[in-house]
This record gives sequence, C-alpha cells and structure tokens, in this order.
Amino acid sequence: MNQLNCHTELRLLNLADYLHLIVDRLESFEADVVQTEETVSFQFAFGTGRFEMAPGKLVMEASAAEVEGLRRVKELFSVAIELYAKSEKPEMAWEGDLADDTVLSSFRLMRVRNAWQLTPGMRRVRLEGENLDRFESFTGMHIRMLFPTETVPDPVWPIAGANGLALWPSEDRKPTTRVYTIRKLDVKAGYMDVDFVVHGDPHGGDEGIGSAWALNAAEGDVVGIMGPLGRPVRSADWYLMGCDETGLPAMSRILENLPADTRGVAFVEVDGAADEQQISCPPGLELKWIHRNGVPGGQHAELARAVCAVDWPQNVSSFGWFASEADAAKQVREYWRKTLGYGRDQTLAAGYWKRGAAGLMAG
Ligand SMILES: Cc1cc2nc3c(=O)[nH]c(=O)nc-3n(C[C@H](O)[C@H](O)[C@H](O)COP(=O)(O)OP(=O)(O)OC[C@H]3O[C@@H](n4cnc5c(N)ncnc54)[C@H](O)[C@@H]3O)c2cc1C
Repeated sequence: MNQLNCHTELRLLNLADYLHLIVDRLESFEADVVQTEETVSFQFAFGTGRFEMAPGKLVMEASAAEVEGLRRVKELFSVAIELYAKSEKPEMAWEGDLADDTVLSSFRLMRVRNAWQLTPGMRRVRLEGENLDRFESFTGMHIRMLFPTETVPDPVWPIAGANGLALWPSEDRKPTTRVYTIRKLDVKAGYMDVDFVVHGDPHGGDEGIGSAWALNAAEGDVVGIMGPLGRPVRSADWYLMGCDETGLPAMSRILENLPADTRGVAFVEVDGAADEQQISCPPGLELKWIHRNGVPGGQHAELARAVCAVDWPQNVSSFGWFASEADAAKQVREYWRKTLGYGRDQTLAAGYWKRGAAGLMAG
C-alpha cells in the first residue's frame, strides 16, 4: 500500500521553551517517541510523524497508510502547535498529500434519535450519525458540540483550513460551541449518548445554550460535533477520583473500563439521592455520593474537601482524576501538585465549567 505523506515548515523562535510540552502532549496519545537533539519521531497506532528542528524553524512531517490516519496525525500536530506556540502565532500550511483537503475529518453532522430525562438534573440525548468509528479508534471521549441557536438556526458547519484546523466559513452563521462527553458509543448501531446537566433558563438566550438545547431536543433535530477530544487517562493500580454532574459521564466511562482488580475511591457530587446513577466499577473501588441538598452547583465545599482528605497509598502506582466547577478543580489541583507534590503524570484536575461564565473550554 502506498504511504501518504505531508509536511509543513514553521518559523518558531522560542520552540526550545515549550517543545517538551508538545512532545509530552503527543506522547500521551499512546505514541512511541524517539528524541534526539535535532529530531523527534512519533509512532502512533494510525500513522507516524517527525519533527526536525533547526534554529528558528520546525519542520513537521506526517505519514500514514490511510487518509483518516494522515488527517489524524496532522490534526494532533496542528492542535499541539496551536496550544503551545500561541504566543508566536506561526503561519502553518501543510503541503503534499491531502494539501487541498477541506474535509474536516473530526466533524460529523448528527441527528437526535430520542431524548429522555435520566435523573431530575440530567437529560440523555441519543444522537445518530454516519461513520462514527473515529470516535472509537482514536483516543479521547469528549466532543465539541456545535449548536444551532435562535439567532443562528441554520449554521454553516466548519471545514478544514490549510493548517489542518477548523475553518469557519461564515462568522455570521457560526454555531455556538460547548464541550460534552460521549457517555456511550455504539458504532455498529450508529449512535452515541450524551448526558446533559440541565440548568438555568430552558429557553437559553445567549447563556445555557447547551442545556436549553438538550431540554428541547426532539427527534430529527440536527447538531454538529467535532472530536474526539481529550487524552487517555494514565493507567494505575489505585485511583482517587472526584466529580460533579458535568464530570459524571466521563468518570462513568473511566470506571466501567478499569481492570477488575483496580483499587481506590471515587466521590460524586449531585443534588440529591434521586440524581445518583447506577455505575459499574471495580469492586475494590469505593464509590461515594455527596449531596448538595439544594445548594447550587459550584457552591458546595464538600467535594473538594473530601477528595483532599484522602491519603494516597505508598508503593503502588496511583492516579488522581478530578472534573468539576473550576474553583473546586483549582483547589484540588493546587493541593495535589503543590502540597502533595504529585506531577502532571499522576494528576489531572480539570475545570469543566465556571460559575458565572458561559462556554468554558468551548473555544
Ligand atoms: C472536557 C469536558 C467535558 C464535559 N462533559 C460534560 C457532559 O458530559 N455533560 C455536561 O452536562 N457538561 C459537560 N461539560 C461541562 C459543560 O461544557 C459546561 O457546563 C457548559 O458550560 C454548559 O454549557 P451551557 O450552554 O449549558 O451553559 P453556558 O452558556 O456555558 O453557561 C451559562 C451559565 O450557566 C452556568 N453553568 C454552566 N454549566 C453549569 C452547570 N453544570 N451547572 C450549573 N450552572 C452551570 C455558567 O456558569 C453560566 O453562568 C464538560 C466540560 C468539559 C471541559
């Protein structure tokens, strides 16, 4: 089979300051990495890539046997540059195979199959779409959802730009984006479930667009998605986990995929007993529910307190995972990183939403 190849050359004056962050990010997509002073090679399951560094410049090369593999390597490289070389704003245009490709391989147009109230605070929406295998074969369980709104009821969907990233053909008809988790994926049956926390005004306006969309979702409604986003959680023998409802779909997926002999403790904050869900998790991992009892989300201190009170075991591999309102996530991250001294390789504490701010992490 012929190999597909492409490359791009970037002007980067400060690459040495953040190269390690780029390499660390790309390695976490389960890549084998070989690094020398002037090159870095990445072997992914779906293709390969190479960096060649010279003073003031970086050449990135991508190769794969399949079109989707090449698009994925380009996408991972382009996103890493976008994230870490932000201050240098490098021009990036891929040349070679697929150079004129405008298909944004991460985009799918989905249709609502049905929607139902899972618990008082959570609505499950089943979305059907074609060709969903990339959401299974590539790591990452999150998606960027692209919602039509009252002001933009008929959005123009994104295409791929020359830099391999999403290009929005019309600023006026851009959909509103929010980040969600694929709670369940069935590629053969052609559907995915997304669990939405429902909060605020069911008519939305400019705020709470994701929640309002889910509350009103009906069979046949159209929505765009892009993904998958996110990195796999590192494997460990013992886990300490914590989340509120927004992190529950992700935590549930992680828990149900852990090996049966995994040990640890997981805390979930919900409003009350009716919001608890049945989650399958290893028997040695204790699941504890924390009830807010009417205190609004993001204003209850117990979740972060409970997580920070747990002693980490010695002499076993361990990992801390936390996803909730941004202030609680910051508190836990600082405790794990600064007080306990655990690094990024052992902890991930993410703000999934921020009190008073719309669309955190959606950009
Ligand atoms: C990686 C990742 C995965 C996520 N997965 C999920 C998921 O599977 N399910 C899910 O429901 N959310 C998930 N979220 C969180 C979700 O993206 C945010 O809650 C988002 O702000 C919701 O958009 P919205 O349009 O409803 O509200 P926005 O327009 O963003 O916010 C409007 C107002 O509502 C407040 N608000 C936002 N979210 C909540 C909330 N949960 N409770 C109370 N008030 C809120 C905001 O502070 C703001 O004041 C995830 C976030 C990330 C980063």
